Amino acid sequence: MSVRRLALPIAGVVASVALVVPPGHAEPSPDALTHAPQAKVPVAEGYGGAVATVDLDASKAALGVLKQGGNAMDAAVAGAAALGVTEPYSAGLAGGGFIVYYDARHGRVVTLDGREKAPAAMTETSFQENGAPIPFADAVSSGLSVGVPGSVAQWELALKKFGTLSLKDALKPAADLAARGFVVDQTFFDQTQQNAARFADFTSTAALYLPGGAPPPVGSVFRNPDLANTYRELGKRGGSWLYGGGLGAELVATVKTPPVRPGTTRVVRPGLMTTGDLRAYRALERSPSKVRYGPLEVYGMAPPSSGGSTVGEALNILESLPEAGLHEYLEASRLAFADRNKYVGDPGYVDVPLRELLSDGFAKERACLIGPTAMPNPAAPGTPDGTYPGCQLDGAAPPPGVKADQPEGPETTHLVVADRWGNVAAYNITIEQTGGSGIVVPGRGVLLNNELTDFTFGPAPGDPNLPAPGKRPRSSMAPTIVLKGGKPVLAVGSPGGATIITTVLQILVNRYEFGMSLPEAVAAPRASQRNAAATQAEQAFIDRYGAELTALGHTLTLVPGPPVGEIGAATGLEFLPHGRLQAVAEPSRRGGGSALVVTPARR
Ligand code: GLU
Repeated sequence: MSVRRLALPIAGVVASVALVVPPGHAEPSPDALTHAPQAKVPVAEGYGGAVATVDLDASKAALGVLKQGGNAMDAAVAGAAALGVTEPYSAGLAGGGFIVYYDARHGRVVTLDGREKAPAAMTETSFQENGAPIPFADAVSSGLSVGVPGSVAQWELALKKFGTLSLKDALKPAADLAARGFVVDQTFFDQTQQNAARFADFTSTAALYLPGGAPPPVGSVFRNPDLANTYRELGKRGGSWLYGGGLGAELVATVKTPPVRPGTTRVVRPGLMTTGDLRAYRALERSPSKVRYGPLEVYGMAPPSSGGSTVGEALNILESLPEAGLHEYLEASRLAFADRNKYVGDPGYVDVPLRELLSDGFAKERACLIGPTAMPNPAAPGTPDGTYPGCQLDGAAPPPGVKADQPEGPETTHLVVADRWGNVAAYNITIEQTGGSGIVVPGRGVLLNNELTDFTFGPAPGDPNLPAPGKRPRSSMAPTIVLKGGKPVLAVGSPGGATIITTVLQILVNRYEFGMSLPEAVAAPRASQRNAAATQAEQAFIDRYGAELTALGHTLTLVPGPPVGEIGAATGLEFLPHGRLQAVAEPSRRGGGSALVVTPARR
């Protein structure tokens, strides 16, 4: 087995994955009010629509919408709102996200940008003091890092343009779920535990997530009646309740004066957000990024996310090489990250050369830097200027101020939905860090995001991702839809900060270069090279490929946690022959995900 022309031992990779789900598990009653734990299954096959999320309750909420005649966009919004209940440390109405959507009626891919924005009062130096960046840990739990939330505006835009449900109806499953509660699993417990110290420093957060001073135990039922009411009121009043109304005023008050526990020694910087910032917020429809990859067209999220451009550039580089194995995967990713770090930011503020970054000429020029052994680190960014005479060996260091690997949070979430009409949604939703800012809006049951920590704090002259008034921080989120002959064949995405990009890229490489099935591609061990000296990897990846890759000059290190040793938590779906749908989630990472289909296939 060679890591250059790879023949992976794929049978071993997924030995534990149930490829077809017993119908009793694949189609639980969406109305079941029981709190008895049900098994989550990572793969489901069938017809009439499919859903995959990290969580059974959220998958059920989305599936219920499909069963009641809603389309993929309706179900995506319902699923995202439900994730705001059961995955509240990763998703929520005070966060943001990106949707890549295949609109079957018009046969086109569109994207909806619900990315959080900087307040109007934010400047290039807002995350600096005395000319130096403030400690990252301080920014994480602060009002300062709270971006103007985009999710609610995005949901309204999504439903208005592509859905059939009212906001009220789309939020109903989530409101009901928040009211009746869900069973605490190990992942929820662990995430609460990991956040306990900072949650304890905010009175509203401690009251909700540390009842009695400790995380709710595994197996207990966790209810969030405040969130249930917030969703219900939001459904009745509409987004203007947040964007200029009473809910918005409460958010602003919380951001400006976080409910800090008396006596805490934590430095909690207040935020800059105003009700005017909320009023000015708009979710945006944007053109997707697009690259051709063999017979496929790969659509992703264009800037302000770097997901589509970086995945796309790396695929282009791989395609222009004579062979693509794991060594080439790592090198293509390294080069694409060098370019991402130099060129990608909010296109409203930065002239992002997206066309050139995704051009074949640029890919060829970059690809010719890849040799038989690992290139020196860090790789310098290329020059996507439309002139590609050949290899550009013009220096190895990135420009001053551009860090090779920005600190981005380890958590968000991703869901996929396909409906009976052929619409497909790939949706990344986030509040940035696991637990966001750590600040719950008192009486509302919702955590505020800390998305503005995705900005480069600086000083970093020339960095495209410095903060500015109203700017959207660069994201790595990479919801992706693959078309063949104009029809969707696959959708995929993942959480994981900047590792989102490499997870999506690796799954596509596993699927289309190495011939794995989608469940195999998702389950396979991961590695993430982001133009850093060492490639972060899971232990199973190191065990299998470490020796050969090390011999080629790569350095592999175990990815730090939490959770230690895991990269990503992907969800995806594939259109199999004869109209059969395959929904795919993680078999084990983050406790495993939940795949469901409307009508399960017979085994
Ligand atoms: N804030 C991250 C981004 O937009 C996503 C959150 C995460 O997965 O860490 O890229």
